[in-house]
Amino acid sequence: MTVRQSMTPGEVKTQGGLVRKENGVFVFPGFCDVHVHFREPGFSYKETIVSGSRSAARGGYTAVCAMPNLNPVPDSREHLAEEEALIRAARDITAVYPYGALTVGEKGQEAADLEGLADRVIAFSDDGKGVQSESMMRSLMERCRKLGKIIAAHCEDETLLRGGYIHDGRYAAAHGHRGICSESEWGPIARDLRLAKETGCAYHVCHISCRESAELIRQAKKDGVDVSCETAPHYLLLDEDDLQEDGRFRMNPPLRSKEDREALLEALLDGTIDMIATDHAPHSAEEKSRGLPGSAFGVVGLECAFPALYTGLVRAGIMSLEDLVGKMALAPRRRFGIPLPEGDRTEWDLEAKVRIDPEEFLSMGRATPFAGAEVYGRCLKTVHNGKAVWEYRTEE
Ligand SMILES: [Zn+2]
Repeated sequence: MTVRQSMTPGEVKTQGGLVRKENGVFVFPGFCDVHVHFREPGFSYKETIVSGSRSAARGGYTAVCAMPNLNPVPDSREHLAEEEALIRAARDITAVYPYGALTVGEKGQEAADLEGLADRVIAFSDDGKGVQSESMMRSLMERCRKLGKIIAAHCEDETLLRGGYIHDGRYAAAHGHRGICSESEWGPIARDLRLAKETGCAYHVCHISCRESAELIRQAKKDGVDVSCETAPHYLLLDEDDLQEDGRFRMNPPLRSKEDREALLEALLDGTIDMIATDHAPHSAEEKSRGLPGSAFGVVGLECAFPALYTGLVRAGIMSLEDLVGKMALAPRRRFGIPLPEGDRTEWDLEAKVRIDPEEFLSMGRATPFAGAEVYGRCLKTVHNGKAVWEYRTEE
């Protein structure tokens, strides 16, 4: 990660009330991440809703939306009930909003009980998988429009994957790896934007990673489509030139080219990219130990997202602190209708220089491409519903 330092924390603008500075401590509204995997029910060896919530609190988040690639998949009220019980048990730590699945078992064949789930879920998604059939997606969009629910789409054309696991670019060619082409992402986005325009469905694109995706969404916004999108810190701060032969660099979509990363930064600044989500996706150490070719897809992000972005974007002079906090705290709440409880806040020492050490994570996942990075920003305290849910202690 290249960090240019052209701005010191003291120069940060603080108008507008989004960012307050009290006794040298920066106070922000609690961050909100619309894309996390908390792995319960079904995969509690990777993460639990409690460990994920603690990880969120340590990262400054007071609300997250949990993706439905679980067991059972929340595709009916009955299947959702198990997840709801676990969420209730962790509710004192952070607000966890479940997604409902779009299709039964996220298999893409048969629609889930959207009507039965609508009042219990934040939005619908088959994240982890793309809805392959156009006619299925059209009918899901028609139903979600009637329900007033957002579809958050993981866009991936499975016919174009060909066993790839990193970007189909320079690094893959040089090191003999199988690549994933960008079209596997932007192809389905182009299709869905057309369907969203036709159906009037509120549509959100998950984790965009390439230039073409940003261009398609920018145009669709001009055309009046009800679309929003997110990207993740690693797509903004890293690219294929940062790849190492280590499973902590394997995620889906993959780190793309430098040109893609620069296009995403431009899209973030011009408002095409509405918000930053982490796609926090913990796996066991063993699942991440098999290098680029064999590890599971996914990295954790909640505990290093803000320091990495603050260092790589704000201190580097690319974007203002207000804008970054807006993309992490307010924009997601606005789009998904997530409340900001009175008193939810997170407090940071932005002059603390910190080395990202996964062994300190409260998440059960340890794999992050930011491991070892020297960044600025320490979360001193996070308050949710008036209660401190994270406090930094020097002896920790
Ligand atoms: Zn996804």
